[in-house]
Amino acid sequence: MNFIMDDFSDLKDFLSQPKRIIITTHHKPDGDAIGSSLALYAYLIQKGHEVNVIVPNDYAPFLQWLPNNDIVVNFEQEHDKSLKLLNSSDIVFCLDFNKLHRINDLGDIIEKLPGKKVMIDHHPEPDDFADYTMSNIKACSTAELIYDFIEMMGDESLVNKDIGVCVYVGIITDTGSFRYAATSVRVHEIAAKILALGIHHEEIHNKIYNSFSEDKMHFFGHCLSNKLKVFHQYNVALIAVSYDEIKEFNVKTGDTEGLVNFGLSISGIKMAALIIEREHLVKLSLRSIGDIDVNKIAKKYFEGGGHKNAAGGKSHKSLDEVVAIFTNMLPVEM
Ligand code: 5GP
Ligand code: MN
Repeated sequence: MNFIMDDFSDLKDFLSQPKRIIITTHHKPDGDAIGSSLALYAYLIQKGHEVNVIVPNDYAPFLQWLPNNDIVVNFEQEHDKSLKLLNSSDIVFCLDFNKLHRINDLGDIIEKLPGKKVMIDHHPEPDDFADYTMSNIKACSTAELIYDFIEMMGDESLVNKDIGVCVYVGIITDTGSFRYAATSVRVHEIAAKILALGIHHEEIHNKIYNSFSEDKMHFFGHCLSNKLKVFHQYNVALIAVSYDEIKEFNVKTGDTEGLVNFGLSISGIKMAALIIEREHLVKLSLRSIGDIDVNKIAKKYFEGGGHKNAAGGKSHKSLDEVVAIFTNMLPVEM
């Protein structure tokens, strides 16, 4: 199913009175996760609601400047506060994920809450855990769907600069700055409306993309010079990094973001993989161009999922074993 749009008219009635609202998003939130959460926050507070954003764990410093970033509660670090807020909430919005297990322990808690649940997301094959689901795998980002949601509530006039900046960040980070296939006419229309509000797109791009630490740049240099393997016969590129290297280069949250895409910059490469050994597990990121469905590959081999052209997974096997699983499955089926 590509598109699920429940009837939101009851929700609109429900939200016509002030409510206690929680917004949450996926594990290790990316630009779309944080952008869509803070965009929805900036909309709902204008409607008089009490709104809190709870994220499962920390996220990259290059996202920590978005409007209202200071209100975000980190479930891992602020457990008691999070539980209190969740237990007194009337409704939870789940953004940019489609299965509750994607948010770890927080998912178990949300599942048991008596209040209403809303899912707004663009990943394929959503679970049916929400009372209201807005799921469109054709949407470039959840941020695009937040714009649609505000419009659907009849409140486009409430889209202000704070909402605009957050939606813009969600869109650019999930489309590679308007490059990927999902960048539709609608996406450009939304971007145009946001720019017309007077947001500074150059400043946003700088904050998101020109924000490497020196450590991160050295780490990228090391990976590209010493770790990149190209399987020309299969049009595949791979970077695999050990936990020792992660420590040696002082790699922090967000410092691996963007690395996997370099593989696709090589002429002819159709799929790129990044395999990283973390302290307790091995994480894997996959990106592809065209018909190669990395969501299926992540699901089949690496306990993961995602989108057709961008997916991720994990394994509790050793780094060498995961690399072997990856190379043995080549060439990929189309
Ligand atoms: P990234 O490679 O940037 O971590 O993730 C790319 C995409 O894959 C995102 O849409 C993300 O939601 C999804 N993804 C990443 N890791 C996992 C995972 O372990 N399980 C699932 N189901 N999806 C993942
Ligand atoms: Mn997204």
